Amino acid sequence: MSATNATGGIKRLLIANRGEIACRVIRSCKKLGIESVAVFSDADRRARHVQQADLACHIGGSAVGESYLNAKAIIDAALKVKADAIHPGYGFLSESTQLISLCNQNGIIFVGPTLESIAAMGSKIEAKEIAQGLEIPTVPGYNGETQDVDRLQKEAERIGFPVLIKASAGGGGKGMRIVRQSSEFREALTLARQEALNAFGDDRVLLEKYLVRPRHIEVQLLGDTHGNVVHLFDRECSIQRNYQKVIEEAPVSHLDMKVRQSLFDCAVRLGRHLGYRGAGTVEFIFDADSQQAYFLEMNTRLQVEHPTTELVTGIDLVEWQVRVANGEALAFAQSDLKTVGHAIEARVNAEDPANNYLPEIGTIQLYREPVAEGLRIDSGVQQGSEITPFYDSMLAKVIAFGDTRGLASQRLLHGLNNFAIGGVKTNQEFLTSLITRPAFLQELTTQYIGKEFPQGWQPWGEQMHTAIAACAFALEQEHRTDAAMAGTPWQKLGGWRLTASAGTPAVARLWLQTNNGLREIRVVGRQGKYEVQVIEPAAKDSPSTSAHFSIHLYRPAATLADAQWQVELDGTRRSLDIAITEKQVSISSPRLRRSYRFIGLEDAMLGQAAATKNAGNVIRARMPGLITDVLVQVGDVVEEGATAVVMEAMKLIHNMPCPVSGTVKQVLVAAGDKVEDGSLLIEIEPAQ
Ligand code: ADP
Repeated sequence: MSATNATGGIKRLLIANRGEIACRVIRSCKKLGIESVAVFSDADRRARHVQQADLACHIGGSAVGESYLNAKAIIDAALKVKADAIHPGYGFLSESTQLISLCNQNGIIFVGPTLESIAAMGSKIEAKEIAQGLEIPTVPGYNGETQDVDRLQKEAERIGFPVLIKASAGGGGKGMRIVRQSSEFREALTLARQEALNAFGDDRVLLEKYLVRPRHIEVQLLGDTHGNVVHLFDRECSIQRNYQKVIEEAPVSHLDMKVRQSLFDCAVRLGRHLGYRGAGTVEFIFDADSQQAYFLEMNTRLQVEHPTTELVTGIDLVEWQVRVANGEALAFAQSDLKTVGHAIEARVNAEDPANNYLPEIGTIQLYREPVAEGLRIDSGVQQGSEITPFYDSMLAKVIAFGDTRGLASQRLLHGLNNFAIGGVKTNQEFLTSLITRPAFLQELTTQYIGKEFPQGWQPWGEQMHTAIAACAFALEQEHRTDAAMAGTPWQKLGGWRLTASAGTPAVARLWLQTNNGLREIRVVGRQGKYEVQVIEPAAKDSPSTSAHFSIHLYRPAATLADAQWQVELDGTRRSLDIAITEKQVSISSPRLRRSYRFIGLEDAMLGQAAATKNAGNVIRARMPGLITDVLVQVGDVVEEGATAVVMEAMKLIHNMPCPVSGTVKQVLVAAGDKVEDGSLLIEIEPAQ
């Protein structure tokens, strides 16, 4: 559907958001010939959305409360630049009745539904009531107004455990708690209420039967101001972590068409009832065991995963949000709509999936998006972008389209593998392992990640890449030694003792600092032919393990610029990009991108001693954040690995474990404290 006669009243649109969604809305503005206005905080002065927009307004400090969540500042900016309309994107103020009221008071068009729709769907209790009134099935549970503890406990018993407590005002998985048995209910309720009050200023909760094998299915709606409401089919978002979506696709597979049709009907019925205008999503949960589908909630805004629907329906949802806000009628009826092919989206985050998904902050030093048939990248960063602790960690979405689900996933894999991002760790490899598991071809449930990676996710080929990097280091050193560079730093590296005489293989021992301790690499060999052993440190419940590799390595001649190294492993030869500086080996293969900083014997021993003496008994904040819970007190006897502090940073909850067993000596924080990167939080006197 092309944009004809589309601009209507809106000539200048302010986007009250940042990152990829701001860039996405700017794209549709360009298509419609509308001027775009970006807003930015202190931390975002040089952000990509600011550079792409026609105009940009500074709205305040880096903290979201001072800028992107400050409705007043946003309205002031819109008035200053005489914007006709505001697009809220998703998150931030996208479902804020305050922003709409201010828009209405100031004659600014809000690109979204009415205040009444947002208010009705903003409370899960009320939304569920409305759905029930329309005979839309809802998850068995309790969504009454009476909120006293005894009543809730009684209702929980009636529903039967496990029960899920949800914050009525909740979103993004916040304020949700599973209760597995009756005796745990009261405590869980207290905690859930506290969390809800802190996060949303509303401590009302609802109770639901906790479904053990649910699928997340949602229906995209589009309505206009002329009474038309259509659905744009469904999406599946079952691959989640902590109730947050990781991979999304359209349309839904492995589900009976009759069930799907009934969900389309329910969604449209709800949309009509609300007089819904603009884009919205009705979410359902499908119980894979009982094969029943239930209404979950409605999101009255554009969703992160909207591109999948755009690719299979050919409809630009942002364009239609704007046109509808302009008063235009939808140019298509339900019978004009269909889906073609399949689309899958993966969210690329700055985080370390091998280290409990810890968000990463830093500068994006390398950035190249893949370009290929059937691939769409929606991103909000570029080379040089700063990833700060103030906002969420999503950098980009890779969305692949194909005639079939198989082709779409193949293209997605290729897109993720060829998306070069350096400077911060990303979850790209984690995403590729999610879509290449055999289970990805079967019916998906929200248990997918936990089931596929019961021990947590570890990168494929990590040890192999460590081994190759160590060999490259060895070969480089031989090369430099041969070139008679005695006395260079290469000779001084403690671990390298090439003591063997000519003709016998040399042995080198190197160490790498890993999250679990020191990983040792032993390299035996010469001139590119090596036997390598990679020895992992012993962990709490597992002994030290080792892996063995036979590697032939061919170093490119220095005269050939840009030449790649060749590595032969298990009889197969491949090309690899390897760069070696004095102490660091960077290696980039399609499956893995890593930088290794090897250390020699003395440093390894010193480091280990220092680690146990200093760092080993304290917990420090690894980034700025908010302490949400402190679970230990001075004098407590604690076990290594037990959670001591819960911290919120970059919109995520981090459980921070005790590094050693012992007695708590100092507790320097309390719930509600803001902490800086590196702040000391807890000190433990290690048990002897
Ligand atoms: P939020 O508004 O915080 O995103 P939702 O109600 O949309 O909360 O639920 C988010 C996710 O939580 C769902 O996609 C699903 O994975 C899980 N979930 C929600 N309700 C249930 C339930 N009754 N049983 C099991 N899982 C649930």
